[in-house]
Amino acid sequence: MQIFHTIQGLRDALNEARQQGKRIGFVPTMGNLHDAHIELIKNAQQSNDIVVCSIFVNGLQFGLNEDWDKYPRTFEGDCNKLREVGCDFLFHPDDNEMYPNGLDTQTRVICSTMTDVLCGASRPGHFEGVTTVVTKLFNIVQPDEAVFGAKDYQQLAVIRRMVEDLCMPVEITASPIHREPDGLAMSSRNGFLSKDERLKASQLNKSLNWVADQIKAGNRDFIALEEEANRQIEAAGFKPDYVTISNSKTLELAAVDDEHITVLGAMYTSSARLIDNISLN
Ligand code: AMP
Repeated sequence: MQIFHTIQGLRDALNEARQQGKRIGFVPTMGNLHDAHIELIKNAQQSNDIVVCSIFVNGLQFGLNEDWDKYPRTFEGDCNKLREVGCDFLFHPDDNEMYPNGLDTQTRVICSTMTDVLCGASRPGHFEGVTTVVTKLFNIVQPDEAVFGAKDYQQLAVIRRMVEDLCMPVEITASPIHREPDGLAMSSRNGFLSKDERLKASQLNKSLNWVADQIKAGNRDFIALEEEANRQIEAAGFKPDYVTISNSKTLELAAVDDEHITVLGAMYTSSARLIDNISLN
């Protein structure tokens, strides 16, 4: 695996690959790689000749009181995992390479729908940080395909919309949610959980499943279902952020006759904020 810390170095290597007619797949990450990230790489390998992974903990998408500084950085271990799976190129820029003019004056990309609900409501500016960095990364890598995880459902929807609205020539592929045996969605932030919290953290998934089962059984009292799921999460000792039954495409509150419904949830543990979702159909 070749490792690049500069935009120019990566571009030179990618230009060479492109001249040889190679198709390029891209998996952006913030590192601290776990099995779910590796699944994304494998997914990208299926339909591309060269797979590029990026590791960059993007300050622009973290709020002032969030965990940017304590976000786990495990570069050596990440490299080993990427080598093992046969990733071709790793892009690992520092803040100065990505934001040479600083964060405050950085040109931003703003998606004007879907970004101020759900996670966007609790994390103002988060999706602006995501769409800005993903645009920069797309411009640097110019991939044919980029693979994102369905765990970050809202992020995926926002990126799909951005790509459509801005005519970006990149195919977006979703990779299914990868879970621990008890149902907890894999996340770099799971490492923040205490032993006791880890034992109970799959409650988020259990409650979303419970809501999904109720809907499948014909229960359309969405508000009551959301309230009950929040109550279950609270009873397990966590602070619910939201449980919301949404239209899968628009992320607006689902209408009772919507065919494509996604149940999304987020909760706070004492040390991390965890998210999950389940799509019906
Ligand atoms: P992150 O490093 O957390 O920014 O995630 C990088 C990519 O991995 C994103 O596209 C995430 O959606 C994806 N990802 C992280 N955790 C999971 C998971 N448990 N299942 C599927 N995709 C995931």
